[in-house]
Amino acid sequence: MNERDSEALAVMLARAGYSVVYDEDDADAVLLNTCAVRELAERKAIGKAGHLIARRKAGKALRVGVLGCMAQNRGPALAGSIPGLDLVVGTQQLHHVPELLDRVFEREEGGPIVALEEEEGSQNAISEHPAQFQAAAFVSIMQGCNMRCSYCIVPRTRGKERCRPIEHIVQECRELAARGTKEVTLLGQIVTSYGRREIPFVDGKSPFVQLVEAVAKVDGIERIRFTSPHPRGFKEDLVDAFRCIPKLMPCVHLPVQSGSDAVLRAMNRPYSAAKYLEIVDALREAVPGICITTDVIVGFPNESEEDFARTVELFEKVRFDMAYVFKYSPRPGAPGDALPDNVYEEEKEERNQRLLDLLAQYSLERNQTYVGTVQEILVEGRARRGENRWMGRNPTGRKVIFPSEANLAGQLVSVRIDSASVTALEGELVSALEEQTLTLVRVEQL
Ligand code: SF4
Repeated sequence: MNERDSEALAVMLARAGYSVVYDEDDADAVLLNTCAVRELAERKAIGKAGHLIARRKAGKALRVGVLGCMAQNRGPALAGSIPGLDLVVGTQQLHHVPELLDRVFEREEGGPIVALEEEEGSQNAISEHPAQFQAAAFVSIMQGCNMRCSYCIVPRTRGKERCRPIEHIVQECRELAARGTKEVTLLGQIVTSYGRREIPFVDGKSPFVQLVEAVAKVDGIERIRFTSPHPRGFKEDLVDAFRCIPKLMPCVHLPVQSGSDAVLRAMNRPYSAAKYLEIVDALREAVPGICITTDVIVGFPNESEEDFARTVELFEKVRFDMAYVFKYSPRPGAPGDALPDNVYEEEKEERNQRLLDLLAQYSLERNQTYVGTVQEILVEGRARRGENRWMGRNPTGRKVIFPSEANLAGQLVSVRIDSASVTALEGELVSALEEQTLTLVRVEQL
């Protein structure tokens, strides 16, 4: 979500007359859009801001701002911990950054300009996309979260759930499609809560499923993904959507956090491991081969070896395609920040590594099943390494690398998979599925 916010903010700044430079040394202002989910991210951001401000001593008139979740969480106190800061802007004020930055440049000196207020309708402000072509784009559908997971700072930094209207989101997708974007990922803290208070169910379909259906009707958008759903809100209508909406890609990121019911209760996550497995089974029955990924925390307060064994058991049952494994770190201001951080660091590290080892094994085994198959790939751009090598993703989101002399960015192509590693597939182009005209439209935009 931060990446998406930064991308939209860069467009707003450009419209106000600013331009993005790619080397910090060329910048007149550096704005750090921060994360507060983990302590390490905060420490890095504070260190970076301090380092930038220190460069002023060397005569560089650099303005420095801290935006986003950490700014919201720490508020004006942030200015005290980073002397010399020019701008502190919270998550609901991001769209005001261009005018706030103007003010920073206009004045000679003074303390930081601070904007942290909640603002009605601010969820609608993140809707602009860069002019550069994007084969796949993120679309923010809502902001905030009404849950109170004990480890999580997000409801405090992002505020209460606020949704964008379906027609605004669909219009944004239409505009993306008109520029050649073929894939959208619908973003929200809990997408399964989308519109629950504002939009009624229709024919047993939740507002979120109605939204996915509406986006699927947009000509030119060929692939839809979303992140993240909550197990509590993952009901039959959403499982059915995978069966009935061909554009909905067979890939679900479903955060589990722990396989132990006791830990889930302590985390204030209102489901059991058995319930989670029921959802996974239903998804696999609806779409055999669906890719399932997750988030998990190891070393949560009081997590015993026995609790962790339940997580390992769940991993063995689901055989996740990928997971973000986090070592617990207490977040001041989160509902459970008083819980004792009583699992030793070495223990957290060991549990972390055990899950990563399992994931590497599952991912490789899964990737090997693709060898010899032909996959439909949406080409996102050039691969990081190698000349004339391209990178795209198959429907389950696997990274696929293949050689081609032609520029195929943004096209759906067929690739025969020849080899697999833990992280990627490699293959040979079988055919470009699309007409040349699309390439011409894209080149014109560039
Ligand atoms: S559902 Fe829980 S983990 Fe996710 S954003 Fe809300 S409080 Fe945080």
